[in-house]
Amino acid sequence: MTFRALERRIKSISPEASASIIDGCVVLKGKCKSYSQVLECGRLAARLHSDGVVNDLYVEGLESKPMYISSIKDEELEAKSFDVCIIGAGVVGCAIAREMSRYKLSTIVVEKEYDVGLRASSRNDGMIHPGIDLRPGQRKTYYNARGNRLYDQLSKDLGFDFVRNGSYVVFDKAWNWLLLPAFIFRRIFNPIDGIRFYSRKKLAKLQGSVASWQKGAMYLPSSGIVCPYQVTISLAENAYSNGVRFSLDTAVLGMQSKDGEITSISTNRGTFKACVVINAAGVYSDIIAQMAGDRFFTIHPRKGTEAILDKEAGYLTSSVVAKIPLGDVKNHTKGGGLVRTIDGNLLVGPSAEETIEREDDSTSSSIIASLFEKHSRTVPALTQRLDITYFSGTRASTYEEDFIVRKGRRVSNIVHAAGIQSPGLTASPAIAIDVCRLALEILRAQGINARPNDSFNPKNPQRIRPSRLDDEQRDALIQKDPAYGRIVCRCEEISEGEIRDALTRPLSVMNMDSVKRRCRVTMGRCQGGFCTPAAAQLISKQAGIPMSKVRKARGYLALCPVKEAQDENQEL
Ligand SMILES: Cc1cc2nc3c(=O)[nH]c(=O)nc-3n(C[C@H](O)[C@H](O)[C@H](O)COP(=O)(O)OP(=O)(O)OC[C@H]3O[C@@H](n4cnc5c(N)ncnc54)[C@H](O)[C@@H]3O)c2cc1C
Repeated sequence: MTFRALERRIKSISPEASASIIDGCVVLKGKCKSYSQVLECGRLAARLHSDGVVNDLYVEGLESKPMYISSIKDEELEAKSFDVCIIGAGVVGCAIAREMSRYKLSTIVVEKEYDVGLRASSRNDGMIHPGIDLRPGQRKTYYNARGNRLYDQLSKDLGFDFVRNGSYVVFDKAWNWLLLPAFIFRRIFNPIDGIRFYSRKKLAKLQGSVASWQKGAMYLPSSGIVCPYQVTISLAENAYSNGVRFSLDTAVLGMQSKDGEITSISTNRGTFKACVVINAAGVYSDIIAQMAGDRFFTIHPRKGTEAILDKEAGYLTSSVVAKIPLGDVKNHTKGGGLVRTIDGNLLVGPSAEETIEREDDSTSSSIIASLFEKHSRTVPALTQRLDITYFSGTRASTYEEDFIVRKGRRVSNIVHAAGIQSPGLTASPAIAIDVCRLALEILRAQGINARPNDSFNPKNPQRIRPSRLDDEQRDALIQKDPAYGRIVCRCEEISEGEIRDALTRPLSVMNMDSVKRRCRVTMGRCQGGFCTPAAAQLISKQAGIPMSKVRKARGYLALCPVKEAQDENQEL
């Protein structure tokens, strides 16, 4: 498409909108009647293949909620200096932090939330994608393939659970078999490890729950599954143990620049300096780029909702079952499916809804019902009767629908790891390696030669999980430490010892939800109905605070339980 054609098309969508080219990027300004018009204009602009799309179109009366900022205000970081500042402690920021900790540098991660991995990084399917649906030539495709292969070693080093349980892409129409050459051809450009094709009969034998009328399937053995927050927490723990500083409850609110270089970063906890700034702020990465004076892309949030089914539904599949996402291509989604989680539950979803809200975690019963309706066509025994809870997360999509992993365009000391939508969990270890390399190059240009951190330890301390031991081993463990014999959470079989461990690991955070994400207490079928008081009592004891002060989330500043956020009403 030419620029003239784009201008005409934008005017035909909204006469009050205009397009211009500024510094190689398409900039859209003016008014639209609806948010879908804003999106349509942005997508058209992306077809120009410029250096980026800055979409500042607006709809009168339509505004998103402001970013969540902790009420804590202090001078903790005032006038401090760091070599590297990473903004955002999602899986991408934490993976980068771990890579940076291989070097003798002062690195800080600033995160606006009370814990690491609270946004998209804990609100996803946990799939380590094989990459069959990704377009050759995209950065997503490249990082997905590299990231997928890094997971075996990473899980061994960091001690998180990872299984390559494979995924089935089911053919629901006989003509789907005609796509076979396309898949084989795609494999030439996308490095996908192993593809098998199964007839209807073989599929029925391997995945008995799949409807008998399905016509066969493609099987991708390189597909895997993890617990996404376990991965993020493990990366953060390792980075922290290797010397990276984490400042939680710390929102970046502005940046000061001079001559195309960021000179300081302002937060609710003080203004400080950093030689290199790394933008890993997820759905806010375009806002961070704007603060730095380096905005050349726009995030349009895309929400995904999922249902979690009880482990009883786990028999439906031991891996992932999805349909060819042909009808979902225009929605830029893999189409979702059934995912057997690493802990044995079943996930149904996700949906894909464009929204102006960057942090809206609400779920709707109609979306959930549509997910069950859609996926029960592939697995007829799927029933909503077994769902135990729901969640939603928001993808940080750019109009180009690709990752941005690069140095700043106009600012010399920033690296962007932005627009990391799905499959960002899969890609994060590979993105981190490249971002670290780019940051080191910037430091070198400033005369800072980072030496390797000789005391870097790639491994995390092992987690003790009594329920995974045989009787003899468990008896011996309980003899040594009786706390591992006192079960607090019956559904998930979590002992007092494991909750205590979650509270004493590196980077522990003293509230119910943080402890839950670290050891699965309250995550079972009863959703904490039985074990919440006992778990809260243990937090109260460990943190040295009265029971009345133990919060569900937020409330107590991580690593510093004496500091309380006043505005939160999060009592149990
Ligand atoms: C429903 C759904 C399903 C998905 N399924 C998969 C899957 O199966 N496999 C897969 O590979 N990927 C999946 N993804 C994608 C994956 O979750 C994301 O790509 C990944 O989590 C992105 O990580 P991130 O660190 O970039 O972003 P985030 O996890 O969102 O982290 C960004 C962090 O930056 C912080 N932040 C933002 N602004 C500021 C500021 N001003 N100051 C300080 N901190 C700030 C935020 O609080 C946040 O913690 C899915 C995503 C969704 C939504």
